[in-house]
Amino acid sequence: MTQISENLKILRQKIEKQALGYARKVEEINLVAVSKRQPVEKIQEALNAGHRLFGESRVQEAYEHWQDLRVQYNNLKLHLIGPLQTNKAKEAVALFDVIETVDREKLVLALSLEMKKQERFLPCFIQVNTGDEEQKAGVSPETLPDFVTFCQEQNLNIVGLMCIPPVDEPPALHFAFLKKLAHQNGFKELSMGMSSDFEQAIAIGATYVRVGTGIFGNRES
Ligand SMILES: *Cc1c(COP(=O)(O)O)cnc(C)c1O
Repeated sequence: MTQISENLKILRQKIEKQALGYARKVEEINLVAVSKRQPVEKIQEALNAGHRLFGESRVQEAYEHWQDLRVQYNNLKLHLIGPLQTNKAKEAVALFDVIETVDREKLVLALSLEMKKQERFLPCFIQVNTGDEEQKAGVSPETLPDFVTFCQEQNLNIVGLMCIPPVDEPPALHFAFLKKLAHQNGFKELSMGMSSDFEQAIAIGATYVRVGTGIFGNRES
């Protein structure tokens, strides 16, 4: 067994244990393996271990990692979990299956246009800046209801909310806040929790956890 298949196995066990402990269905918790800045050999190991759901932060790198593998593995699911420039919307819609980082009106317009052109209507998440951090991407919690309306007017299929908590605050507060916002706005899916805090995120209601180093080890710089 390789290190990566071992890590995946342990992670799945932890997810299962946490689901059981918090009366959740294990099938509703999805493990997004974050393969950004990881060598293709490691990605291949995860694929060999049967994993099919992956997350990438950058469109360009995602193409380098996945363009060929996509053809070989027809049941792959790729999530974009990093900021998206409007001029990359076309490539993003063509490659990814889910966009987790919808966070501004200009991007909503670009995505909606591209999805119509390509007839690929991808499920999306709205990224929420739960800590109202100036430098961080995401919609501010106060403007979320209006932003949701805007997305609906543009026929963007929003299925849930995503957040990256501030590094210096207890993540559980932000997970609970995101859950509340999702409930208020009628969304079912919650993308929250990374290597260091995915168990807390599951306890609070995450349906997607995004784990990178916990599967692949440290990233290349
Ligand atoms: C890199 C990244 C992750 C994975 O982080 P780890 O700490 O390596 O698990 C999760 N979510 C987002 C948005 C990321 O950019």
